[in-house]
Amino acid sequence: MPELPEVETIVRQLRKQLVGQQIKKVKILRPSQWKQNNPKSVEKVLKHKTIQSINRRAKFIYIDFEDDCQLVIHLRMSGKLIWSDSDPKIDKYSRTIFYFTSGSSLQFNDTRALGTLVFLLPEKKDNWQTKLGLEPLGEDLDFEKLQELIQKSKLDMKSFLLDQSKVAGIGNIYAGEILFLAGIHPERKALTLTEKEIEKLRNTITLVLQLAVDKMGTSLGDGASNFRSLYNIEGEFQKMIMVYDREGEQCFKCKAPIFRIKQKGRSSYFCGECQQ
Ligand SMILES: [Zn+2]
Repeated sequence: MPELPEVETIVRQLRKQLVGQQIKKVKILRPSQWKQNNPKSVEKVLKHKTIQSINRRAKFIYIDFEDDCQLVIHLRMSGKLIWSDSDPKIDKYSRTIFYFTSGSSLQFNDTRALGTLVFLLPEKKDNWQTKLGLEPLGEDLDFEKLQELIQKSKLDMKSFLLDQSKVAGIGNIYAGEILFLAGIHPERKALTLTEKEIEKLRNTITLVLQLAVDKMGTSLGDGASNFRSLYNIEGEFQKMIMVYDREGEQCFKCKAPIFRIKQKGRSSYFCGECQQ
């Protein structure tokens, strides 16, 4: 599942390709993924619009047009955006295709079809989604704000990191890696963290996510739903993973075995020696 680093990778590549491009036509092959819109009218209204800017907040991709309208894309489990400088290679997972006047195209391809697209008029842009938590890349994630959230929370630390209303953009893989490098056990109650641990956690969140952006994301396995960049290329952060999917293998730091437990139905991997 794409998490913040994968979405940031896509956004940076989209920015290079899409800013200034004018839409020639849009073909919606899977209407149910267009939440809140009538697909037929979206096809019509997007025609001739020119893309002005592309941004990310948490795991949402925001494409802004010159007339102040906006398209918001969430990749969810298996959504991919694939760029082509000519017509797209359409397969059974192609869900929406954007054709540009330059002759290039962008397709939203999604094996599980759980991704979402929303078209917003200027007056709707600010009030359509629930409040997102702190943005972990950049200055939003300061010590005081994080400390306040942690000390008010009744969650364990793994659930805290996955809660998008607290810190936004972290999913299962990066939550596990962050807790390992910060030396914090995934079942540790948030409110028991010391100031020193919170500071270390804050630095580790930024470090891990920034490094994963530099490595252009994580691609695990080789199924059709595996993460690929805009140019259909895998990320490289999987080569640096310390605990995820390493149950029974040796910890890279202390050689103790890596454990796996279930928390809210999802696997958590950790080292019982390095994480307290
Ligand atoms: Zn260890």
